This record gives sequence, structure tokens and C-alpha cells, in this order.
Amino acid sequence: MKKEKGKISAIMREQALDKGLLEKAGRCAQDYLDSVLDRPVFPEEKDLEGLVEFRHALPEEPGDPGEILDRLHRFGSPATVAQVGGRYFGFVNGGVVPASLAVKWLVDSWDQNAALYAMSPIVSVLEEVCEGWLVDLFGLPEGSAAGFIGGSATANLCGIAAGRDHLLAQCGWEASSKGLFGAPELKVVVGDGAHATVFKALSILGLGRERLVRVPTDGQGRLRPDGLPALDERTLLILQAGNVSSGAFDPFAEICPWARKAGAWVHIDGAFGLWAAASARLRHLTAGMELADSWSVDAHKTLNAPYDSGIVLCRRREALTGALQMSGSYIAPSGHRDGMHYTLDMSRRARAVELWACLAALGRRGVAELVEDLHDKAVLFAHALAREGFHILNEVCFNQVLVSCGDLRLTERTLALVQGSGECWCGSAQWDGEFVMRVSVCSYRTTAEDIERSVRAFVRAREEARL
Ligand SMILES: *Cc1c(COP(=O)(O)O)cnc(C)c1O
Repeated sequence: MKKEKGKISAIMREQALDKGLLEKAGRCAQDYLDSVLDRPVFPEEKDLEGLVEFRHALPEEPGDPGEILDRLHRFGSPATVAQVGGRYFGFVNGGVVPASLAVKWLVDSWDQNAALYAMSPIVSVLEEVCEGWLVDLFGLPEGSAAGFIGGSATANLCGIAAGRDHLLAQCGWEASSKGLFGAPELKVVVGDGAHATVFKALSILGLGRERLVRVPTDGQGRLRPDGLPALDERTLLILQAGNVSSGAFDPFAEICPWARKAGAWVHIDGAFGLWAAASARLRHLTAGMELADSWSVDAHKTLNAPYDSGIVLCRRREALTGALQMSGSYIAPSGHRDGMHYTLDMSRRARAVELWACLAALGRRGVAELVEDLHDKAVLFAHALAREGFHILNEVCFNQVLVSCGDLRLTERTLALVQGSGECWCGSAQWDGEFVMRVSVCSYRTTAEDIERSVRAFVRAREEARL
């Protein structure tokens, strides 16, 4: 399309009819996916230098969409991390299920606002459907509610908010109207291995990052039940399904029945680990977690849904919607599911549609196989590294592997060389006072060959690090 000077709305109305534009986007995307398995996992220096293309002042005049797309693909695609390939083991990220990617394109063209039924009946219904499917898949109490939100950081916030307000309401204190000034004190109990987002949520919710009872963990990062204080109906206990370093699960079967009897509220941060409940083979890891009150989980991690897909689940629907509801003169109660009452946001993307597509494409069997496959690959990775003389520092109960060379400097240098190799990528952590390499097997794309190739990269990096 040639550059023309004219009213931008008229120009865009023409662009909206341009069939070539989305086709071009499709070609760029396909081109990316075709090359992603072969390219360096972390961009090379020359690719990062290309980013200078974007550092210019805001253009005065409208730009051409096709050219904008071209420029992004030419200089932006090479500066991505090849996370959707098979050799990315950083953080706890995950690939993208093909059906959910394709559906996301359609949903993007809908541009729905998921706040209210009145804004999108289809999204409201698919949120309801996903809620039911997830409650079933995880074996949670029937009728549990789900809110669809950006990630586990905000899902933790929502679950803990529901717990805070519920416990205070039991003491006759309505936190949503009176706030926390003068409120009865709650006892907040957190394991030493809790994720950083839990502390952030506690600080935002007025419960304090430090005004906590911290419970020691065992050698795998599991909360030790013998370290728990007395629990009562003013206790908010936060547990974890999947330690972010070791992948370990707190012993729910020991703790949850006791907490329940005491009237405490139990929130489980299950960002990536809750999915173990979907596999008959791995379900033993989450046994007892169904006795908790709220849970957070990410579809964008273990399930390999596209990003920006967290879920808060809550046994008591009213506790969740009570903590998160809002009203306004222009919002009429619809008698349908209005998604905004289950999350922090008002206007929201229709993220549940991609989640629905993911679950529909995998089915119960597919989800179980996906989770088991990630576990099997992590075990394979750990065994192959151990055979090469690396130290494996955790029991690989799920998808996380903690690796050391047995010497701080050697581990540090080896990691830097692995990260720079382009062959694969993993991050680091402090584990038991030691600097370790942290491998997370999160993507369905990872094959046994990918693991072999990655282990060779680890061995070469260590050889080079020794020079
Ligand atoms: C990733 C993670 C979070 C944060 O989730 P986001 O989706 O990044 O917001 C919280 N807890 C644990 C255990 C995690 O692994």
C-alpha cells in the first residue's frame, strides 16, 4: 500500500479490508516456526544489535502495516528467545500447543472484552466450561470457582485475598468495607520455599512480607509439618505444589486435613505443579491438596497454553467473588457469568478461549501424557548429566533438575558457556546455599534427541570452562 496523506480512520478502514495483511502475518509466523528449531536458543550478538532498528523517535506520520510487520519479523524475530523450540529449559516457561496458537489468532480478530457476559457471551460460556473442566481434571470439590487472570502472581493475590476476607468475616469483620485498620489479627504461615510472588501478594494485601510465621523446609524444599505452629480459624496457611527450583510438593495429605479441622484457610500455589493432579501416575504428588480452600495454577507453564494464562480456583465461590467484586451504575447484573467478578481486572482479554482450545485439543488423556512426558524427559536429562559426572542435587519428582559441577567457579563458568552456546538455555538458582544450574523441562517440543544434544552442550561447556 502506498503512503498517502489522509485521515487516519479512512486509511485504517481500508487496511481492515486488506486480506493480504493477516495472510502476511501468517507467513511471517510460519517462517518463524519453520526456523525456530534450528536457530540459536538465545539470540546471538549480531541479532541483538539489530534491535537498534527500533530505537527511533515516535514517527510523525502514519506507517504502513505491511512494512511494520516486515520490520518486526526481520529485526524482532531473531532477537526472541527460541522458547517454542525443544531446547529451552529456562525458568518454568513452556511451549505453545498448536491448536491454542491457531485459536488465539481467531480470538485476536474477535477482540472481545471478557469483563461481562454482555460484552461477550461466547467468552462467558467458555470460562464456565473451562472452570468445570479444570475442577474435574484437578479433582477439586464440585462447585469450586475459577477466575481467569494473567498468571500465578495475580492468581495468588486473588486466592489469598479471598482467604483473608473469609477469615475476617468469620470473626465478624467485613474487610472489604472496613479495611484492615483495627481488624482482628490473622496468623499468616508460609513455608521457607514459597515463591517470591507469595510475599508480594502478602505485602499488597496488607498482611506484610515479614509479619509471618516461616516454616522450615526439608532438603527438597518441602514444608516440614513438624515445624508448623498451632493452626486455628484465624490462620492463613500458604502451601506449594511445585517448588520453583526443585519441583518438590509440600506434604498436603499430612497438613490439609489438620488445617481443615482447625478452620484455617489453605491456599496452594500450584503454578506449574498442580497439573500433576491430572496424571494418574503423578497424582500422588498432589494427594490431599483437594482439601485446601484456594489454588493458583498457570496454563502457560505445564499445559503449554499461550502466555498470560493464570487461573485462581476457590472452593467457596462467594469468598472469591466477595473479595473481587465491584459494581457501577452502568453495570447491570446479568444473571450470567460475568468474568470480572472472579479476577482483579475489569477489561480483560479472552484468555479462557485459548485455554479451552488447549484442553479440547489435548483431552484428559493428552493432558496426562503431556505432564508425564515432561517428567520422564526431566528424569532422562538428570540421568544423562549424572552419567557425565554432573551432580544432581534434587530428587527429580516432577520437571525440575538442579545441577552443579561440584565447584562454584566451574558451575558459574559452565552455565555462562551453556547460555552462550545457542545449543540450549537454562537458568540458575541458589539451592541449599549453593549456586546451581536450574533445568526446567516444560515444553512438549523437547525430544530425547534435544536432551542428548543439550547434555553434549553441557559437557563441552564444562570442558571449556576448565581451560
Ligand atoms: C511461575 C510461578 C509463579 C508466578 O506465576 P506467573 O505466571 O509468572 O505470574 C508463582 N509461583 C510459582 C511456584 C511459580 O512457578
